[in-house]
Amino acid sequence: MKSYFSELITGGWSLILGLKVTIKAMFSPIVTVQYPREKIEITPNYRGHIDLVKDAETGAHKCISCGSCMRECPSGCIVVEGEKREGVKGKVLTVFTLDFTKCSLCGACVEVCPTKALDYSNEYELAGYARSDFHYDILKRLEERE
Ligand code: SF4
Ligand code: SF4
Repeated sequence: MKSYFSELITGGWSLILGLKVTIKAMFSPIVTVQYPREKIEITPNYRGHIDLVKDAETGAHKCISCGSCMRECPSGCIVVEGEKREGVKGKVLTVFTLDFTKCSLCGACVEVCPTKALDYSNEYELAGYARSDFHYDILKRLEERE
């Protein structure tokens, strides 16, 4: 009989402790969001895949097609091609692709770029059905970006 009452008191006490946690949480500020209906602002330090930086004034990129990022990339996931055009100083960038399936986000390409033409995107919704969904045409993305 004694153990019956002892268990009753222990059970009641643990119920009160549990409710205390629940009630405290009910009145705490909400830190989660109803994703995907609600989205949080991504921190500027977030590292998504690389992207070409768009010059705010000209709307153009700053890539000079030197290929340093391609050579420096330890995963070999960047392809850069440029061509000489008449009347244009330096090379014109014609291809800039990234195979994001191989990228380790090491940042070597961003660091090595002599013109600071690369930065990390803040994209995180990157689900796909095939590996090819993660082969990005970085040049095209720049053109499509507002
Ligand atoms: S972040 Fe690293 S692995 Fe990814 S593309 Fe740049 S150099 Fe290559
Ligand atoms: S290192 Fe910079 S300038 Fe050179 S190809 Fe890569 S993005 Fe372009």
